[in-house]
Amino acid sequence: MFTPVKGRSVIVTGGSKGIGKGIAGVFVREGANVLIAARDEGMLSAAAEELAAAAGGKLETTVADVSRVEDCRRLAQTAVERFGGIDILCANAGVFPDKPLAEMTEADVDAVLGCNLKGTMFSVQACLPALEASGRGRVVVTSSITGPITGFPGWSHYGASKAGQIGFLRTAAIELAPRKITINAIMPGNIATEGLADLGDEYIRGMEAAIPQRRLGSVDDIGNAALFFASDEAGYITGQTLVVDGGQVLPESPAALEGI
Ligand code: NAP
Repeated sequence: MFTPVKGRSVIVTGGSKGIGKGIAGVFVREGANVLIAARDEGMLSAAAEELAAAAGGKLETTVADVSRVEDCRRLAQTAVERFGGIDILCANAGVFPDKPLAEMTEADVDAVLGCNLKGTMFSVQACLPALEASGRGRVVVTSSITGPITGFPGWSHYGASKAGQIGFLRTAAIELAPRKITINAIMPGNIATEGLADLGDEYIRGMEAAIPQRRLGSVDDIGNAALFFASDEAGYITGQTLVVDGGQVLPESPAALEGI
């Protein structure tokens, strides 16, 4: 039995939909106080309304663009003002526009790295004093299998940003250890979200066929992994990654999935 996270203060960036909303749902059902952040206020309100029904803890929202350092600082300050501190940061906000490398512009790269990599680094930096004050600070980064392990045409900038998060956390883990803060990353496979739905039925069917468990992951699958990393019992784990993908990265070739 793990120590409950009831009453802990949690920030989830990109918490208005998809995986972030799923992570927020898992924590709030466990009785944590959760601040979700994203750029679109309407989506944040809709998520808050949906999650409030299941809430054991408090669920609050704030508008923030994590690619802006000032917004990251304001986000951390808001959590401290509303919940009295920060125990857990789930650095989850991410974008994944596709573009072949041959057509990629500087603005395309800046947009993806700005949110996914720079946004992760500065949201962590902004929360450091409060995480240290917690005495058991936890950072859980949403990376991906795409980049650190696999590739997919159109997502070279995205893959670079997701692999970059892992490079970042390995050094951050060393720097944060004396402050009693752990930082770990989840590498989701293909998770059923509104964002993924935009990629179309054909893409989703192709992905299901490539996964040994023959299903996309759920947002709760990722939320539960985040809850584990955030637990007191995971306090000796830092700088590590956890693939949550139904076995997607395992087959050596399509032949490995034939007849199962
Ligand atoms: P999603 O459904 O599109 O949700 C993305 C969330 O991030 C939204 O709340 C969005 O709200 C927010 N966001 C985007 N840019 C932001 C910014 N600059 N500042 C603050 N919030 C921002 O995406 P998802 O599929 O849940 O992805 C969430 C994370 O999981 C990402 O890091 C992604 O790389 C990772 N991931 C997803 C999958 C998958 O299968 N879905 C697989 C591997 C990894 P606004 O647009 O209103 O800001």
